[in-house]
Amino acid sequence: MICQAIARLKQQIPLLDYLQAHDWQPTGQLSRGRLMGLCPLHDDHKPSFLVDSHKSLFYCYGCGRGGDVIRFAELYHQVKFPQALSLLHQWRGLPPLLHEAAGFYRMQLHRHSEAVAYLYHRGIRSAELIEHMQIGYAPGRCLRGWLTQLGYPLQALQQAGLVTAVGYDAYTHRVVFPLQGNLYGRSLSASAIPHRFLPGAKGGLYAWQQASRHPAVILVEGLFDYAVLWQAGFHNVTCSLGTHLNARQFRQLCDGPRTVYLAFDADANGSGQQAAQCLSQRLRERGITACHVTLPEGHDPNSFFIEGGDARQFQSLMEAARP
Ligand SMILES: [Zn+2]
Repeated sequence: MICQAIARLKQQIPLLDYLQAHDWQPTGQLSRGRLMGLCPLHDDHKPSFLVDSHKSLFYCYGCGRGGDVIRFAELYHQVKFPQALSLLHQWRGLPPLLHEAAGFYRMQLHRHSEAVAYLYHRGIRSAELIEHMQIGYAPGRCLRGWLTQLGYPLQALQQAGLVTAVGYDAYTHRVVFPLQGNLYGRSLSASAIPHRFLPGAKGGLYAWQQASRHPAVILVEGLFDYAVLWQAGFHNVTCSLGTHLNARQFRQLCDGPRTVYLAFDADANGSGQQAAQCLSQRLRERGITACHVTLPEGHDPNSFFIEGGDARQFQSLMEAARP
């Protein structure tokens, strides 16, 4: 039991993510996935700290210490094994709590016709897709009661950002998509802030495991773009939740030879296209083939499909895509 829990924790916290969250930067790469940098464990002047990001192990040629992410936490925070575990649990955040919240929201979805109608209007029409993305609905004013009933202290809910400081559900009238270690909530009402995340990182690329099996992937900005493409049969789609990729998302795109089709918004001010230019430049520097999918002016993949575009048309846009 305990061994399994420890193995799971290690799997959930890639060493490199943990190091980067503690301001470690690689200074060089030996081979794919093997990085060197200054040792955070001793006063290092030339890079002697080796990280194998695939095996999630480190070794320092300076101070001779090495191991996994738990060993690193022990040494870095100068604590014993059990405290290192609890620090890592804390850092990883709240999967059990988030899992519970997301499950509750999923139960609510079909009890609220306005939520189902909203999804329909945004092009999310198949039950299979709703199941695949585990989409839920936060009506507001009921999550707190449910979770406290299950024994979660109010303080934990507030720390997670699920409940506001004054005690209200943070997500109200929002369709909710579970992410890795976070929840994305899209407001149904035009007067509220449209996009909402819990505090903390947005995680890696959306559904990366599935997409990364394909030699070519389609990268989109938003989950509604992801949804319509997946529904149209493009299961090689992934989403960065915004045009700016975090370090982890960028690393994922570069973790093997592949072609990336960038299908960002074709907004009038050109910001989506600019971001795509900039990203494809960076990808090419890492040896990744990047192509721009040019959507009709003013469209994103979501509106393209909602307004009658189909898989065959999108496929021809991909075939016409240029680096
Ligand atoms: Zn060292």
